Amino acid sequence: MTTPPSAAAGDGTNDHLVQSTDPDHPANLIPSLCAKFWTLGWVTGTGGGASIRNDDLVYIAPSGVQKELMKPSDIYVLSLAAQQSQSLHPRQRVYLRRPPTLKPSQCTPLFLAAFTKRGAGCCIHTHSHWAVLVTLLLEAHGSAEFRINNLEQIKGFGRGPGKAGNLGYHDTLVIPVIENTAHEEDLTEFLEEAMDRYPDAYAVLVRRHGVYVWGETVHKAKTQCESLDYLFQLAVEMKQLGLAWITDIAPTVPTRSAA
Ligand SMILES: [Zn+2]
Repeated sequence: MTTPPSAAAGDGTNDHLVQSTDPDHPANLIPSLCAKFWTLGWVTGTGGGASIRNDDLVYIAPSGVQKELMKPSDIYVLSLAAQQSQSLHPRQRVYLRRPPTLKPSQCTPLFLAAFTKRGAGCCIHTHSHWAVLVTLLLEAHGSAEFRINNLEQIKGFGRGPGKAGNLGYHDTLVIPVIENTAHEEDLTEFLEEAMDRYPDAYAVLVRRHGVYVWGETVHKAKTQCESLDYLFQLAVEMKQLGLAWITDIAPTVPTRSAA
C-alpha cells in the first residue's frame, strides 16, 4: 500500500488522493473488494460498504452507489485526526476529498469508531442474509449475543486487539448484537458501547440489518468477514437441523508422539 502524495498546490479537489496505478491503493482496493462482496450478496442494492485507513487518511465508499460498479473517483477521503478535533460537532465531518455528485455514507461514523476505538486498518459492513438470519434466530430467544464453538473456522479470528494469536478450535467465538435504528448513523453510540463491553470482538451484528467487521489490516478484516459469514451460514443450517451452536467436546489428543 502506498502513501498518497501530499496535496498538490492549487488542487482544490484533492483528486490526486484517489488516483494511483497501485491496485492495493485504498481508492482502487475499495471498489475491487466491493465488486467481490456484491457477488456474495453482501452489498446488494447499494447497502453495505467498506472503508480503509492508511495512517491518518480514511477512504470510504459513498452512499447510494451500486457497489459492483464503484470507481476510485467515487471514494471519499478524510483525515482521522481532523475528525477528533474538539471544535467539530460529533456529526460534522471535514472531507479532504469528496466526489461532487455523491452523498457521504451513513456508515461513516461507524467505520470511524473501528479506527479510533480499535485502531483498525479496515472495516467492512455487509447486509449478508446469513448475518441477518442469525440475528433473527437470536431475537426469537431474546438474545443479544451470538456464541459458537468447536468449529475449525473459529481459528480465523484473532484473540483480540493487542493479544497474540488466534482463537483455537475449542474456543467460543462471541459476537454482540445491537438493535437496528431507523437511520444507520444512529447506530454509532450502540456500536461503540458494544465495543466497550466486548473488547476482544472484531465484529458487531446489527439486528435485522447485517454486520460490521474490522481488522488490523485489509487482509485480516476481509478474512475475518469471510470466516464470520461462513459461520453464520453454518449456524443457520445447524439450527434448521436441530444442532446446538455450543457443544461440550473433549479435546482429542494424539497418542503417537512426534518423531
Ligand atoms: Zn447497513
